[in-house]
Amino acid sequence: MAIRTIRTVGDRVLTKTCRPVEEVNGKINQLIDDMFETMYDANGVGLAAPQVGILKRIVVIDVDGNPYLLINPEILETSGEQTGSEGCLSLPGKSGIVTRPNYVKVRAFDREMKPFELEGTELLARCICHECDHLDGHMYMEKVEGELMDSTYDDEE
Ligand code: ZN
Repeated sequence: MAIRTIRTVGDRVLTKTCRPVEEVNGKINQLIDDMFETMYDANGVGLAAPQVGILKRIVVIDVDGNPYLLINPEILETSGEQTGSEGCLSLPGKSGIVTRPNYVKVRAFDREMKPFELEGTELLARCICHECDHLDGHMYMEKVEGELMDSTYDDEE
């Protein structure tokens, strides 16, 4: 495993649309391991492949000690609303207020490319939305209400 360099705002890789994963080969397995390690090293709660410079539809999340891997995630359903502080590992030291759905149901594939569904509320729902946005080249700053703030907030995604 290896810690990869996290790309930050200004890097054009963060603005691109990622390609679906077709098979989990050795290289993709390594990437997934590295993404988890990189996220934990940075004390993040989520990381998307473009944040380490790879244009593939892969997301890792760890909310409350529960790790999730989402390959080719597709949001099926959302409901409700939550408004709260959000940050991103690709914009360190900043945060902003973003409104997201309070409930999300997502369909994704696991390491064996078996499909599954995951439901999340609160932080997990926020995180799923934030990471799925990265796969289409979008960042939370596009949705911030008011100004970005300097932050010591450490739930960065
Ligand atoms: Zn992010």
